[in-house]
Amino acid sequence: MTARLIKGTEIREEILAELRAETEELKAKYGRVPGLVTILIGENPASVSYVTLKIKTAQSLGYKEIQDNRDPDISEAELLDLIDRYNKDDSINGILVQLPLPKHIDEAKVINAIDPDKDVDGFHPVNIGRLMLGGDEVKFPPCTPAAIQEMIIRSGVETSGAEVVVVGRSNIVGKPIANMLLQKGAGANATVTIVHTGTKDLASHCLRADILIVAAGVPGLVKPEWIKPGACVIDVGVNRIGEKVSSKTGKTIAVLSGDVDFEPACERAGWITPVPGGVGPMTITMLMKNTMKSFKSSLGIK
Ligand code: NAD
Repeated sequence: MTARLIKGTEIREEILAELRAETEELKAKYGRVPGLVTILIGENPASVSYVTLKIKTAQSLGYKEIQDNRDPDISEAELLDLIDRYNKDDSINGILVQLPLPKHIDEAKVINAIDPDKDVDGFHPVNIGRLMLGGDEVKFPPCTPAAIQEMIIRSGVETSGAEVVVVGRSNIVGKPIANMLLQKGAGANATVTIVHTGTKDLASHCLRADILIVAAGVPGLVKPEWIKPGACVIDVGVNRIGEKVSSKTGKTIAVLSGDVDFEPACERAGWITPVPGGVGPMTITMLMKNTMKSFKSSLGIK
């Protein structure tokens, strides 16, 4: 069997086109567009590149985008004040504070300071609680799990009644995606198992999975013989395994691999996400979707 590729790059374009059209329509009707502020503290190169991508994507959709960069010596109190200002700003629907923060700032305090109704990253404890409750309670699913669910749905893979195994129990991927897929409703209703570093026999659990979601950050952790023939494999892992010179730009770039041994896995799986080009490109897209949702909610529409 040769697995069908679930390409995040293609699904991203579909969703962005939908959001662009929706932005134009709402602008014509209400004279307003979704507003997103990205707060970046310092100049960590990875954070700068993530934030730049988020800003460019928001601008390409016609959103209002405020880029608020601050010096790394900003005090915690000043940052909390800044967040409070954006909480009260009606033109802002989404507040994104790029993590990690400098050591002198308490990350949990900052996340807790964001208005849960503008927390488009979905990291605020209130939104984690809403996710657990499920259904209409869910306001902002965190972006990477939302990307995973969207990719499964848009690929036509049946989740209802499926055995889902999630490898990894992090707060940003493993726990939320498990929670989302076990809820009653479309694109969910699955029987979910989470496996982790304390699990005795990883292979036997993986082998049961109709949908196998791997978010461990360990290259080649999942062996091809652990994959149930025909299963849908979502490889969330992004691991730098070396460097190469780009044939396009001539610059040195990272060689990335997922957590699944990709080539042989393609011979067993029914669907699989590549790395790069799978879940990665979808995450920012889901941030844009959450910002749109917040905007619509501020307009009192669904
Ligand atoms: P994390 O380190 O917070 O969590 C990893 C989890 O995997 C832990 O719960 C751990 O118990 C489990 N794990 C690790 N080694 C294991 C092993 N040998 N056996 C069983 N379980 C094991 O990581 P994270 O933030 O959830 O990210 C996981 C991976 O996904 C990373 O490679 C990260 O770069 C990637 N990631 C990608 C995106 C994206 O594409 N947009 C977003 C977030 C994370």
